[in-house]
Amino acid sequence: MTEIDTPAPGVRSVRADNPGPMTLDGTRTYLVGSREAVLLDPGPGDDGAGERWRELAGDAAVETVALTHAHPDHAGGALRAAELFGARLAATGETLRSLSATGRSLHDGMELPVDGGETSLRAVETPGHSADHLCYLRPSDGVLFTGDLVLGEGSSLVGHPEGSVSDALSSLERLLALEPSLLLPGHGPDVTRAAQRLTEYRDHRRDRTRQVRGALEAGARSVEGIRERVYGDEVPPGLGWAADATVRAHLVHLEELGEELPELRGR
Ligand SMILES: [Zn+2]
Repeated sequence: MTEIDTPAPGVRSVRADNPGPMTLDGTRTYLVGSREAVLLDPGPGDDGAGERWRELAGDAAVETVALTHAHPDHAGGALRAAELFGARLAATGETLRSLSATGRSLHDGMELPVDGGETSLRAVETPGHSADHLCYLRPSDGVLFTGDLVLGEGSSLVGHPEGSVSDALSSLERLLALEPSLLLPGHGPDVTRAAQRLTEYRDHRRDRTRQVRGALEAGARSVEGIRERVYGDEVPPGLGWAADATVRAHLVHLEELGEELPELRGR
């Protein structure tokens, strides 16, 4: 039996069985609405997915399958879910293209109707974790679905070349300005102290940038050397690539800030 949560009025969620270092306790799929609903981030298209989606939807008619971004732990089951419910996909044009899918191409500010227009979900362009990333705001009460830009615990990956620290910082500022009441992430638990979490994320990225700059000033001349100075031995086994991608993203950010970088091995 699938365990279904109700993190906010008119929002149900279920967790996919894909736990891991990047997905925490698994990808969260949301159903917004009770009659004409939006299914947000169906998750991977694993064997149990169809049953999970059906139980999540209950009696609601899923009209739209919306995506935050194209990563397979969020969108792997998108085409199957859309077919199962006879629903239309909605995502950025870039997300749709990477899935070779057709659907409604969303731009910043566009709204998906929920329950015949009683409420809606508004697309908020929030690149950073990936260039194609959208968050979705329910304007009636400020519930914000944050995908992989902000997770329920820990920090999310902003790695080069997919991610951009400069973009992530602007996206976090945008979200802060929306004054959300609740963050519902793609992985991990609900975040009730929304402004505090968004500020922590922003400060964490700024700290990392400072640490990367500090490593360069201390004489590091390779990505590996910077990683060792910044992370020491806190990198879990098998995640060296993520730490290196993060270092590279911060190097790009330093250049975007107009800073001169030395020649670096491993860039
Ligand atoms: Zn992702």
